[in-house]
Amino acid sequence: MSAPFEMLLEAPVYGLSQSQKMPLLLARLRELSLHHREHCGSYRQISDAAQACEQAQHYAELLPLAVRLFKQRPLSSITQEQLFKTLSSSGTSGARSQIFLDRAAAALQSKVLVKIMQHWLGKKRLPMLLVEQPALIANRQGFSARGAGALGLSFLGRDHCYALDEQMQPNWPAIDAFCERFAGEPVFIFGFTFMLWQCLLQPLAERGILLPLKHAQIFHSGGWKKLQHLAVSPAQFNQCCEQHLGSAQVHNFYGMAEQTGTIFVSCEHGHLHAPMLADILIRDPRTGQPLGIGEAGLIQVFSGLPESYPGHSLLTEDLGIWLGEDDCPCGRRGRYFTVLGRETTAEVRGCSDTFS
Ligand SMILES: [Zn+2]
Repeated sequence: MSAPFEMLLEAPVYGLSQSQKMPLLLARLRELSLHHREHCGSYRQISDAAQACEQAQHYAELLPLAVRLFKQRPLSSITQEQLFKTLSSSGTSGARSQIFLDRAAAALQSKVLVKIMQHWLGKKRLPMLLVEQPALIANRQGFSARGAGALGLSFLGRDHCYALDEQMQPNWPAIDAFCERFAGEPVFIFGFTFMLWQCLLQPLAERGILLPLKHAQIFHSGGWKKLQHLAVSPAQFNQCCEQHLGSAQVHNFYGMAEQTGTIFVSCEHGHLHAPMLADILIRDPRTGQPLGIGEAGLIQVFSGLPESYPGHSLLTEDLGIWLGEDDCPCGRRGRYFTVLGRETTAEVRGCSDTFS
């Protein structure tokens, strides 16, 4: 393990200033570029064709691989013998992306995910309500990103309760039993944004139910796309969580199957924060040029983790705004941003959006 990588792994999740973090992360990302050039033929071809800079001094100089490439061809830097697990993202249309992990990569992903989440949840495992069907987790075959996401986070909780039945309806007896048992203590609620809204918050609202929970920590991800169609704003969503799930802290998080482990979690001000091993850059969708603070463009995400596949610098199909650096009122350091939604010309992709 290289020194910059080790320093980032050991660093507090949001404790490094951008000027402390960036040189370390850049060193790690350059190392990964070289590693993938050596071990992944397709990456080498793309990198050569793009005449990618090998000594990138800025994020903007790192080759941005389009996320959709993972759907079009296998991109792997490990041998068949090393393959431990394949993650696939669930797409509504067309191909799924495939992410190849060896044992070390899988272990590293969950180690970093746990470290990031412990920043928010504390080190003690909390009783966990998953806004999911039990079958999603039980069926590990095909291992969808949704299942993997929920399973990855389920390690952070205890006494798991699945809030939905096989028909995606609230399992009221299970929910009641969970609330009765854990009403007074902090609990961890996880669900994909749209499912949390449609399968739990709406049924609660229709029945006028307030769950008797006192300290719920709610984490949701998967995008606002479907909620925008329903004209639900993030503020309304959070308000609804507070009205029906007890006094709650609501955190949205942004992440993708292609960079499992390094997720961006929103703070109490609704800003998504880059953790120590990841960062973002916003690019102009037309020219590809890097944009500054306050301008909307395509989000490029960096992660210091991917060693078994070339996923360390990815251009997403999501639009976002870089909001600032080191100066969020919450006190967390590094870059913070917001996601606006999918670029309209981009191919529609799934995760929780697949359920309707
Ligand atoms: Zn913040």
